[in-house]
Amino acid sequence: MPHDDAEIERRLGNAHDCYKVWRKSHIAERQEVLSRVAGALRAGKENFSFLITSEMGKPIEEARAEIEKCAVTCDFYSANAVRLLADERVDSGARDSRVVFDPIGVVLAVMPWNYPFWQVIRATAPAIAVGNTVVMKHAANVPQCALALETLFRAALAPEGLFATLLVESGRVAPVIRDDRVAAVTFTGSTPVGRSIAQEAGAALKKHVLELGGSDPFIVLSDADIPEAARAAARSRFSNAGQSCISAKRFIVENDVADQFADAFVRETRTYQAGDPFNDATRLGPMARRNLRDELHAQVDATVKEGAVIRVGGKIPEGEGNFYPATILDHVEPEMTAATQETFGPAASIIRVRNSEHALDVANATAFGLGAAVWTGDLDKGQAIARDIEAGAVFVNAVVASDPRLPFGGIKQSGYGRELGVWGLREFANVKTMYSH
Ligand code: NAP
Repeated sequence: MPHDDAEIERRLGNAHDCYKVWRKSHIAERQEVLSRVAGALRAGKENFSFLITSEMGKPIEEARAEIEKCAVTCDFYSANAVRLLADERVDSGARDSRVVFDPIGVVLAVMPWNYPFWQVIRATAPAIAVGNTVVMKHAANVPQCALALETLFRAALAPEGLFATLLVESGRVAPVIRDDRVAAVTFTGSTPVGRSIAQEAGAALKKHVLELGGSDPFIVLSDADIPEAARAAARSRFSNAGQSCISAKRFIVENDVADQFADAFVRETRTYQAGDPFNDATRLGPMARRNLRDELHAQVDATVKEGAVIRVGGKIPEGEGNFYPATILDHVEPEMTAATQETFGPAASIIRVRNSEHALDVANATAFGLGAAVWTGDLDKGQAIARDIEAGAVFVNAVVASDPRLPFGGIKQSGYGRELGVWGLREFANVKTMYSH
């Protein structure tokens, strides 16, 4: 049941009251809370994983890995917040001039369902470490995860109001953004909704971070280890049933190895058979919602009509559940539907290119700029291409992934601002100059 106005008011009030105390807490105290959150995540791993798989369908082993990653990230901030938030002295000729990192207030987090725990912890653990408090509106299809996250902070003996879930419909987010007690917004989700969040936050002049959609390129050069690249391609595209912002979507392959890569990729793809997500061995679960599967299938159909060829998958299976098979579209051209739109499900597009310059042009010919991968036997060449790719992260000979030590975020229509590492900590900090003559 959604929270009524009085309950939202109570939770916002608590978050704001808590902020007044938490902002003055010693960083060591915040570190202890985050360490206890990590412990509570590990203690509740089976329960939390069960909730994730029940509500959005990811294979249970992936859900367990998601919880562990949340714990690792809380551990990271718990171990490093003092160091990362230490005053920075700057030699300006004054007796003492330094930069200090103050909290800014209550942060509203509007979150998606695809990694129901990870997205939330990734966005909020650093904000809390700085001394902010959090209210969180989660996606409508993961209400039990949303409530479990609040319980998690309670189990970690966090002060009342440090982290609260708001069970509200999306239409009631704008008044929360405008509320004077809310200082900033962090949003993870689709590009169109990000645009409307940015309009609200901009009108209210509130700092915001946007983590939006992507259409990550995965470049395979002719000197790459093709079997290894194909295994990585399948892992990148099909884990979480392809419902990941940083999963590779456009496989841009040099012509002379394109057949070899496509054959190997098809073989790997056949190992991703859809099955019961509660079975430990399942590698491909159902998609999270029926409409998402139908949208993906419409994109696949449209791309085939435009001239692409289905190598594997591409048909909605009979029976219950929102299953969609691991699918490869070959001979996709850069202007086709699956190459221009975000495909948020298990469908890969192979685009064949003449050479590495052509590969780079195709990789950058997108409205998005989240992640990218380059596969090559020549590291120098891979790194040179990586520098020219317009994206928030480029991985050479590795699958794009987030890491608490490294910044995460996009450019272009994939959003702005950064999460994780020291960069995530500073997004919701007042970077304050203190100058003493
Ligand atoms: P979405 O439809 O944009 O929803 C995300 C969140 O926004 C949900 O909590 C949703 O609530 C809420 N929302 C929807 N419409 C709203 C509105 N008009 N005003 C305020 N809030 C609103 O995205 P999704 O389908 O859940 O997630 C998939 C998208 O997220 C993909 O595009 C994916 O690439 C992107 N994503 C990006 C990252 C990243 O880090 N860059 C990570 C993960 C996912 P309701 O559920 O109640 O509608």
